[in-house]
Amino acid sequence: MRAGTAVKCPVCSSANGVRCVESQALRDSTRFDCEACGEFEISRHALVTYFKSQSGSLTTFQRAALSHLLNSASQAGGGPMISMDWMERFVGNARLPSPPKQATNLIRLIGNRFIETGEGYVLDSATDTPRVGALNANMFSQLCKELEARNLIQAIEYKIEGDSCDDIMQFRSSYGLTLDGWERYEAEQSGRVAGRNGFIAMKFGDEILDLFLKETIKPAIKDGIGYDLVDLRDVSRAGVIDNIMREQIRDAAFVLVDLTHDNSGAYWEAGYAEGLGKPVVYLCERAKFDNAKTHFDTNHCTTVLWSAENPKDLRFELIATLRRSLNLFAPAS
Ligand SMILES: [Zn+2]
Repeated sequence: MRAGTAVKCPVCSSANGVRCVESQALRDSTRFDCEACGEFEISRHALVTYFKSQSGSLTTFQRAALSHLLNSASQAGGGPMISMDWMERFVGNARLPSPPKQATNLIRLIGNRFIETGEGYVLDSATDTPRVGALNANMFSQLCKELEARNLIQAIEYKIEGDSCDDIMQFRSSYGLTLDGWERYEAEQSGRVAGRNGFIAMKFGDEILDLFLKETIKPAIKDGIGYDLVDLRDVSRAGVIDNIMREQIRDAAFVLVDLTHDNSGAYWEAGYAEGLGKPVVYLCERAKFDNAKTHFDTNHCTTVLWSAENPKDLRFELIATLRRSLNLFAPAS
């Protein structure tokens, strides 16, 4: 941990005795390093508004969601900066991962530890609760019990912690995965465990496309098949952006790729998703497609054309295509 003054973490309130230190950051903000939430910075304005005032105080749920988000950003290598804008967006969208996703997170933690060290993982509810995205330590312990009852994780040895007379001796089990647990681990690593959302790869900052995404594509997918569509901006946390993107593609049920701007990043993301065996649907603005086509490698792929003037066409074709790709039946009419 960094050097600094020991404080109560403004996000998780240092529940379960986790340590947190604060130090002055270069900008007009304070840096925190919390055993549970990881490293992050909060601007002075946001700190006063959301974390130190009664009126702006966050709910337990929002705190848990924030702690999880910061923890994963920290794991991905970035200490995020929490500004007023960032908090405004966060408060409206705060969510914890679903229980199956939490289970997947825990299986990944245990599996990764074994692969890296050959040893079991000692569960620690104080730091593992935010890591898997559980609401609190009780819910985390419930999750562990269920995974053990389902024979996905197992206690492999007991460790005794604290070696001097002054320490409180603690007996804690270290956990490993069962063979079924390893199968789940590998399925998840190769992207075969898909969430209830799609991911869109595209060029950002194009006014027409941004508006079309917000007003047509996202609502069409939500109404048509009940999936949320996320783009990198929805999940932007400071961090190694490539890792976050890979994670998003790996966890998505399908990937849309807009090729209107011949964006090379979008082509790369499409290749990554195709490699994982994800359903990939290509989009392209109609006039651009009629003039210059898209790269020849995607000629044989399903490309849904759109134009901002006729959003209805896209809605119909995109939903029909996604239903086919995801083996979803059209609702009875
Ligand atoms: Zn914390």
